[in-house]
Amino acid sequence: MHDENCIFCKIASGAFGTEFSYEDGNVVAFDDLNPQAPVHVLIVPKVHHANIIDGVPSETLASMAAAVKAVAEQRGIAETGFRCIMNTGKDGGQAVMHLHMH
Ligand code: 5GP
Ligand code: ZN
Repeated sequence: MHDENCIFCKIASGAFGTEFSYEDGNVVAFDDLNPQAPVHVLIVPKVHHANIIDGVPSETLASMAAAVKAVAEQRGIAETGFRCIMNTGKDGGQAVMHLHMH
């Protein structure tokens, strides 16, 4: 599904020419516009799901995990460590209602 009004659908489709630090058939990864850490990357499925409890296929979840590993290695933080966050819903502080991992 693609939501015309969804900013992450547009970014993931390549409409803005965003530089992706990882891409496969299911997901893309790109730098957060307003970084809250020295490395702040968003991992975003190409298909629109509102959040992690919105019927996300296992292949998409596997691609998100592969993207985490690839980006962590690329940015040199695989050994030292990092946090992965998925804000979910209004009370979870989710601002963009298209599934993404920080
Ligand atoms: P949320 O609160 O939904 O988990 O986080 C949304 C994140 O998306 C925020 O960290 C915000 O900075 C980022 N963001 C929102 N719009 C854009 C955009 O157009 N481009 C990029 N690269 N990041 C965005
Ligand atoms: Zn979307």
